[in-house]
Amino acid sequence: MTQSKTPADVAAAAIASPVLILLGPPGAGKGTQARMLEQRYGLVQLSTGDLLRAAVAEGSEAGKAADKVMKSGGLVSDDIVIAILRDRLADPDTARGVILDGFPRTTVQAEALDDLLAESGQQIDAAISLEVDDEAMVHRIAGRFTCGACGEGYHDSFKQPKVEGVCDVCGATNMKRRSDDNAETVAERLAAYHKQTAPLITYYEKRGTLQRINAMGAIDEIATTVSRAVAEATRNRSMRSA
Ligand SMILES: [Zn+2]
Repeated sequence: MTQSKTPADVAAAAIASPVLILLGPPGAGKGTQARMLEQRYGLVQLSTGDLLRAAVAEGSEAGKAADKVMKSGGLVSDDIVIAILRDRLADPDTARGVILDGFPRTTVQAEALDDLLAESGQQIDAAISLEVDDEAMVHRIAGRFTCGACGEGYHDSFKQPKVEGVCDVCGATNMKRRSDDNAETVAERLAAYHKQTAPLITYYEKRGTLQRINAMGAIDEIATTVSRAVAEATRNRSMRSA
């Protein structure tokens, strides 16, 4: 007896083992979308920091090399990161696909990554760029404040307490704002992100793998768009290889 496939099965089958890069400025919901891809499709998120820590803990050759550099306060070289990534991509749990987060950061790294994937006949299926409206983003982040007593979240524009300065939930009157959430800091973070990422965006755009996703909407809608983009990317891959 064969069981009929659910739409989720079909979608999961459609995105067989993608290699994805997730790009997005702070506040764009990168973590949320990565978790969705992990849960929905069994992909594994590989962030540079986690990779390095795990390799060091494991004591692999590349891990030892990374440990030495980090202990001396240096920056781990691209070669070492690539070696660690090569080891990690050979682990069976990554066979259903991976989401790279925080690597590559430069076009030199992007080229090294392409070479690494080519070793095993793979390639980047999609570089997903979560795109935000900078001005709206500044407004969204800088308007946030929370109740210092119970942690309830508020917003200047979207969710004011019923009585100004008084928490709806617990009645406390010490509202708090994070100092790094002010408009200037948020604008600076966004500018730094764009400056660093622009060459990568161009790199993947030229290769036809860039997927621009509007990340200003509801989380569920963004998740649906991301899923669709990934499915389309892997469909294109199977057409390329056919
Ligand atoms: Zn409260």
